[in-house]
Parts: sequence; structure tokens; C-alpha cells
Amino acid sequence: MKLEENISLASFTTFKIGGKARYFTRVREVAELEEVALFAQKEKLPLLVLGGGSNVLLPDEGFSGVVVKMDVLGIEFNETKKGTEIVVGAGESWDELVALAAQKELWGLENLSGIPGTVGGTPIQNIGAYGVEVAELIVWVEVFDPKTGSMYRMKKNTCKFGYRDSVFKHKAKHLVVTRACFLLAKKGLPAIEYRDLREYFAKQRSAPQTPSDVRAAVLSIRSKKFPDLTKVGTAGSFFKNPIVSKGIHARLKKRYPDLVSFPAGFGKMKLSLAWIIDHVCDLKGIRVGDAGVSGQQALVLCNFGNATAVDVRALAEKIISSVKEKTGVVVEPEVRLIENSTQ
Ligand SMILES: Cc1cc2nc3c(=O)[nH]c(=O)nc-3n(C[C@H](O)[C@H](O)[C@H](O)COP(=O)(O)OP(=O)(O)OC[C@H]3O[C@@H](n4cnc5c(N)ncnc54)[C@H](O)[C@@H]3O)c2cc1C
Repeated sequence: MKLEENISLASFTTFKIGGKARYFTRVREVAELEEVALFAQKEKLPLLVLGGGSNVLLPDEGFSGVVVKMDVLGIEFNETKKGTEIVVGAGESWDELVALAAQKELWGLENLSGIPGTVGGTPIQNIGAYGVEVAELIVWVEVFDPKTGSMYRMKKNTCKFGYRDSVFKHKAKHLVVTRACFLLAKKGLPAIEYRDLREYFAKQRSAPQTPSDVRAAVLSIRSKKFPDLTKVGTAGSFFKNPIVSKGIHARLKKRYPDLVSFPAGFGKMKLSLAWIIDHVCDLKGIRVGDAGVSGQQALVLCNFGNATAVDVRALAEKIISSVKEKTGVVVEPEVRLIENSTQ
């Protein structure tokens, strides 16, 4: 274990925001986690696990515990009766994995193309895009428990996956994901029911034949929706789309006939928060310091220069209270708002 001290965390996040870590270490071998956990326990310091830092807002004052950057690598393909299983280290780049699967003509991950971050970060909020959630592909998640030093596999059904949610955000938030196993199919059908994808292929006057065709479409659509991470700091969609009862949906639809929404199962409706922010709250272009709403998509908050976590939180609060005031709907952040010394 190589411990570094007072390391600036901003460059380890896509928001480019965050103070210094009291201690910082890169974990390349799963066995190193035990050493890190023992050190943190001995020093009575909290742990913060970072993957690609693409779904976190770190505090300006930094983190006065131990930040563990997960760099555990490795990709293994196993043929099974059910399909091709891929066992992947938590530190692998998610999008490189998706590209590799598409290149091998394996179906399943292609709709999740272009999402930044690591493989270990994907089960935490059950990443989803263009009609697919990673939970659909996960077989098991291997975890390390820093409290007990034990390592074990959690089957998909024990991960309690939901909309941008899992047990790793609640009861199991202290666990460190070390590897995950995904089941992919050699023969598959493109999942292009999602409106943007349907429209893309209708415009092309062609149907996708391979996972790479779908990947190319998703990457093209995403390039117009998300800012260029090399130029602007962001953690993608800052908020979850609210899920409401059919009654609330009907009331809002009466007031705002153009309201964009989707069935969310169990008699509920998912509202397009981007539409509400743009058309009901009229918050286009709103800024707090250098933090602002993206011109490409209102769900995306950006660091346009030297924004602080305080700026981003204040901007988010403005949006949350405006939506509540205008629609009565409660908005939750999708991005993990990290507090100093806690998780
Ligand atoms: C431009 C952009 C577009 C995006 N688009 C999407 C999208 O379409 N769909 C979507 O769902 N998300 C999207 N995201 C959000 C983000 O990319 C995903 O949530 C990603 O999976 C986060 O992975 P990460 O490795 O960066 O996690 P981090 O940001 O490093 O961490 C996120 C949380 O997970 C925890 N964590 C990370 N790794 C581990 C681990 N190994 N073990 C235990 N805990 C861990 C952290 O402690 C933290 O609480 C987008 C983000 C950006 C910047």
C-alpha cells in the first residue's frame, strides 16, 4: 500500500471540483484493500472509494479520511450455457469494456455506450441509458467489506437494483466493489425502442445489425446531449427524473399539456425533469458563480470555469426549490454529494 498525503482530488473527478484528501491510495490488487482498511480502522478514519469520479460532487474542503482510487484491472471471458460471462475488475474503464464487447459482437452493453467512469461504479447507481439498465446484465458483484475484512459475491437479486439505485447506496454503502460479472449474448436483438434511438435509425433508413451499430448511434446521440468533458466539468445528469403517481401526472399534464413523461411501471410515471426545468421553471442559462445549467440538457449541471462545490450545491438547491414551488414535485440528486469525513 502506497499512501500519499494531501492530494488534490479535483482532477480525479469529471466535475473538476474538490479539495484535498488527507490520505490517498491507489488499489491495484484486491489484497491491498485489507491493508488500507486496517490502516483506516487503526487511525479511526473514514474511507471514500473513487472510481472515475464521474458521479460525485466532492466537498471544497476535501476529505479528511482515506480516499481509495480503485485501479483493479482484468477482463475474463467465460462461455456458459446461458451466454458469455465477462468478469471485470472494478477499475476497468466502463466505456472501453462496452467497446470491447461490441467489437466481439456480444449483445447487451451497447445501449450503455459513452458513460464515463469505471466498471465498479456501475452497480452503485445501476447506470442506465436508452432503455437499458446495467442490472439487466449483472450476474454478481464481488465486494470487500472493510469492517470485517471479508470478500464475497453478491448475486444480482441481493443488490436491490432500482432506478439509479441499489443496496450500495444504502445498507451496503460501506462495501467496496472489487469485480463484477456480466452476462452477454452472442445472438441478440437491438433494443432500440427508446425514442431517440428509434428516430436515429428511422432517419438513417436502416436497421442496426450489430452491437457496434447501436453503439455508434448511442455515441452520436450522446455527443449532442452532454458537454465535452475535456472542456467543461460535469457529472452528467445531476438529478433523477422524478417518478410520480398517475394522479399527480394527470394533474400536471392538465396544467402543462406538453409535459414529457414515460410509463415507469407499477402504475407510476417518470417525468422529464429537463422539460420541467426548461419549460415550467424557465431556468435556462441560470448560474451561481461558474456553476450553471448546460445549454444542451437542463438536467446536466456544469462547472464552466472555477465553480466550487458550494456553487453547484446552491444552483442545485435553486432548481429543486423552483420545481417544488411550481409543480409540487420533489427532486432528488442523482450525483453522490460527498460530505467531508462521511460517505
Ligand atoms: C458526461 C456524463 C454522462 C453520464 N451519463 C450517464 C448515463 O447516461 N447514465 C448513468 O446512469 N450515469 C451517467 N453518468 C454518471 C456516471 O458516469 C456513472 O454513474 C458511473 O457509473 C460512475 O462511475 P465512477 O467510476 O465514475 O464512480 P465515481 O463517480 O467514482 O463514484 C460514484 C459513487 O460510487 C462509489 N464507488 C465508485 N466505485 C466504487 C467501488 N468500486 N466500490 C464501491 N463504491 C464505489 C463512490 O464512492 C461514489 O459514491 C454520466 C456522467 C457524466 C460525467
